[in-house]
Amino acid sequence: MREFDIINKFFKPLSNSEETALGLNDDVAKISLKKDEELVISKDIFVEDVHFLKKDGGYKIAAKLLRTNLSDIAASGATPFCYMLGFSKNAFTNKKFLTEFSKGLEDTQKEFGLFLIGGDTVKSKNLVFSITIFGKVKKSQILRRCNAKPDDYIFVSGTIGDAYLGLNHTKDEYLLQRHFFPSPRVKLGQILLKNNISQCAIDVSDGLLSDINDICQSSKLSAEIFEDKIPFSPSAQKFIKNNQVKTLDLISGGDDYELVFSVKSTKLDLVKKLSHELKINLTCIGKFVKSDKKHSIKLINKSGKKIRIKKFGYEH
Ligand code: ADP
Ligand code: MG
Repeated sequence: MREFDIINKFFKPLSNSEETALGLNDDVAKISLKKDEELVISKDIFVEDVHFLKKDGGYKIAAKLLRTNLSDIAASGATPFCYMLGFSKNAFTNKKFLTEFSKGLEDTQKEFGLFLIGGDTVKSKNLVFSITIFGKVKKSQILRRCNAKPDDYIFVSGTIGDAYLGLNHTKDEYLLQRHFFPSPRVKLGQILLKNNISQCAIDVSDGLLSDINDICQSSKLSAEIFEDKIPFSPSAQKFIKNNQVKTLDLISGGDDYELVFSVKSTKLDLVKKLSHELKINLTCIGKFVKSDKKHSIKLINKSGKKIRIKKFGYEH
């Protein structure tokens, strides 16, 4: 299909704002802000055979692409607003693919309340898809990786390692679902920020240890993590019990798209309440501690012994 036809048939219906998208037929889009608002922006690129396989189909590829972008917005505490799409086409991206792809975007944008405002379409041998996402925050209010303080507790949402298992043990329906349809914790991020429960969050994309390490480096702190506190789903626990996977692999596997955030001891009650309200497990797995030179993670087992970490997470 020609670029013009693709845009009109499949992408225009996703851009329900004439004011912002300018009908998807101008050179630019335009975002208006109120005086006390700011935009937060993030971009993800998905490459064939690295981030997805063609056989996953258009629906799953598009849904995951937008959901991982939304996870970055969640980690900032912002409210999703709109996004731009980089689309590559070749013989594989036929009508059927485009129908599924645009449905994947449509369902996801409905769930999270955002819309498409533009993009670019190119021909390419290998498929590459990209989204640039925009969210809104109140001026100067944003969750940052650099905002953790000594003695803050480290919390993580949901469970860790499901997506890793979904990728490698492709029979368990729950794990597959977690791999293809991550749950960006948008509401959680917003409330953490709005209710001043946390100032620091990151989304777990490369691996729990790797992403906590990113907070450590940005905040110039070390972290103490208790292995037996890390939340695993019943499915993942089965794999651990049967010696089919090591917990170290799960906590460095990545693709979880859960939030890790810091919490002061005075706010612990609020986290408990929030967990109840959102019906999301929010688990304390350790603490940030002062460190002088080297900022790193100490992983501690049940008997109080330090576990050697070989790998923090996925390396790009
Ligand atoms: P230009 O050549 O000036 O970059 P295009 O002709 O590529 O503009 O795009 C025309 C319009 O279609 C623009 O509004 C652009 O944002 C939109 N568009 C192109 N590709 C996509 C896409 N993949 N998703 C959404 N909108 C797109
Ligand atoms: Mg163009």
